[in-house]
Amino acid sequence: MSLREARIDLGSISANTSAMRQRVGADHVMAVVKAQAYGHGAIQSARAAIDGGADWLGVVDLDEAFELRDAGLRHPVLTWLHAPDVNFTPAIEAGIDLGINSLDQLEQAAAAGTARAVANVHLKVDTGLGRNGIPAERAERVFSRAAELERLGRLRVRGLFSHLSGTSDADDADQAARFSKHLAAARSFGLDPELVHLHASAGALRMPLGECTMVRLGITIYGLSPLEGVTSAELGLRPAMRLSAEVVATKTVPAGHGVSYGYSYRTQQPTTLALVPLGYADGIPRAAGNRAPVSINGYRATISGMVAMDQFVVDMGDHPVRVGDRAVLFGDQNAGDPPVEEWAEACETINYEIVTRIGGRTRRSFV
Ligand code: PLP
Repeated sequence: MSLREARIDLGSISANTSAMRQRVGADHVMAVVKAQAYGHGAIQSARAAIDGGADWLGVVDLDEAFELRDAGLRHPVLTWLHAPDVNFTPAIEAGIDLGINSLDQLEQAAAAGTARAVANVHLKVDTGLGRNGIPAERAERVFSRAAELERLGRLRVRGLFSHLSGTSDADDADQAARFSKHLAAARSFGLDPELVHLHASAGALRMPLGECTMVRLGITIYGLSPLEGVTSAELGLRPAMRLSAEVVATKTVPAGHGVSYGYSYRTQQPTTLALVPLGYADGIPRAAGNRAPVSINGYRATISGMVAMDQFVVDMGDHPVRVGDRAVLFGDQNAGDPPVEEWAEACETINYEIVTRIGGRTRRSFV
């Protein structure tokens, strides 16, 4: 084991993908492996998700897609955020599907086709999230042009998709209704997208599939819950990441001893302090100071004082601790580790952010 370690259980990623696939019942499952698979390692996680039944991979940009291709992954890949002056030709030749957010992008994709290959595109409509995606009032213009380009053999419209805001059931239902109308409009222009996808994990768990033939799953394949107040275990998922580090120093100090910058923590009694070599440079939020849990030798403590760039301190009281013991920050609650959700709550954020931030100097090991 290394000094700082994010242990990724690839068997859990496969099992989560397979469980979600069965539960949702869509024809196709896209494993979303953007941002290094939410901190879990893109290549290894993609392979594990494929083993569990995913047949598509989703990433944000072309750099991420080429990383998958360079590692030998030949599965269908979709990307959906592009630089304004992007050259799509290498992506088209590498068989990478393009999410299209505007008429300009559609023209760029058509123009980038070659004698060897034309673009496979998925038209992304904004049904209300207000991020990327074709705005409703321009959708028909894009559908009409896409149909024309398809007839000319200059691209193929493989998919139509959108993304939910998850604001409320009512908002999501409104978005789903708008999505259905877009699908009908696309068909009326002669398009027949084989991949119709609206739901990410939360939508896939909470809403009917409707006419969708694919779901795009991220957080659930990593074993975490996208639903507030619902645990991974309740969804039958296994958290795949366990973050730990070796205790690198211990010291005994008297009562009233200030700990870390600003002395936001003072010892209440003579005690032992354990030093853990993880800090905000490693993705640990500063907000975790005095709030987030750590487990050392089975003792569930709270971080004592501020999280620094490279380290934080734990007041162990009378509990035994030695240099070389492991401090577990989060992992699988069923194995006795603090859950990521406790970290998210302590840091006033979401489980997605906690795991995705972990990187930098923290070694990922795969089991
Ligand atoms: N689809 C899109 C377009 C996304 O941006 C994301 C992630 O943010 C996902 C799917 C996966 O979402 P989740 O991790 O909630 O399953």
